[in-house]
Amino acid sequence: MTGVINEFKHVEMPQLLSLGTDMIQSLPEIIDKLSLKKNCLLITDKFLKDKYAKITKEILEDHGKFRVVLSTIEDSTLEEADKQIILLNEVKTDFVIGLGGGKPIDVAKLTSFKANQRFISIPTIASHDGIASSRASLKGIQERHSIQARPPIAVVADTTILDNSPFRFTSSGCGDIIAKQTSLKDWLLAHRLKNEPISPTSIALAEMTVKLVIQYADLIKSKTEGYSRIVMNSLIGSSLAMCVAGSSRPGSGSEHMFSHALDSILERPALHGEQCALGSLMMAYLHDLDWEEIKTTMLKLNLPVKAKDLNITDDDIIKALKIAHTIRPERYTILGKDGLTHEAAVSVAEKTGVID
Ligand SMILES: [Zn+2]
Repeated sequence: MTGVINEFKHVEMPQLLSLGTDMIQSLPEIIDKLSLKKNCLLITDKFLKDKYAKITKEILEDHGKFRVVLSTIEDSTLEEADKQIILLNEVKTDFVIGLGGGKPIDVAKLTSFKANQRFISIPTIASHDGIASSRASLKGIQERHSIQARPPIAVVADTTILDNSPFRFTSSGCGDIIAKQTSLKDWLLAHRLKNEPISPTSIALAEMTVKLVIQYADLIKSKTEGYSRIVMNSLIGSSLAMCVAGSSRPGSGSEHMFSHALDSILERPALHGEQCALGSLMMAYLHDLDWEEIKTTMLKLNLPVKAKDLNITDDDIIKALKIAHTIRPERYTILGKDGLTHEAAVSVAEKTGVID
């Protein structure tokens, strides 16, 4: 078949996906299953050090077999990853654990990749789909916003921790999933217009994640016990779609470019998934999709549908819309090569109600 990715050529995926109540208690068993050795570098941030990282260290050390070095990071920068590599070599670890939100996981992902060690991802919030993907997003990368690394060997998602995380993060994770509706359309458009290869398996996986979030939106919002499992399943599914595609293409299109454009403009950007969902609402309008339905789902999930709800000015929305196509010029999307004119940007933002 022409135009279809050779899907099963070197597709790297996590080996183990462990989701459930008190899953963190099963870490020793999980590590045994993976045949990893005993010395571990546990990367987290200062907020989670006392909350979850110390318990995780205890669980492993009480088992009697593991030695854990706990390291806290300040930010997710390339310099931070380099510091962790120095530490990793000093203390001679065999594998890495990233515990936290996006930052510790991204740093752990890149650190382990550079050191040629495996890493386990322990997300404490369900806020974006980088949890199980092979790409690491770190600051200090000029042209790209993410770089190729390896997917985690295991994802350990403890729903007791995730159920108790602030709902805004979970809601943002749902936003990152909802945004796939336009990123997939962008991919198909690039396939038709530019003959870019597509992967039907990857597309089917990503579509499934969107269906899950839409179908269970009410349950997610009700925060019924275990609700975070649905969101985590979707985020992992989306990560796997990217693993199959061998790039972030299925999960990142024009709406992500809009979000990255906002990141470059704003001093204090909103959460990634919130910005992507807002972008998706407007890109859906450009794609002639049912953007009102996307808005309904966003409202159900407490996702902001107006710029002012995210403390973003109308001017910044217009600016981001106008520069979004320059963020990743090699990735063809509905924004085309020239992007939106000022009038078109104002029109899409007003018609979708993002600005008044
Ligand atoms: Zn995303």
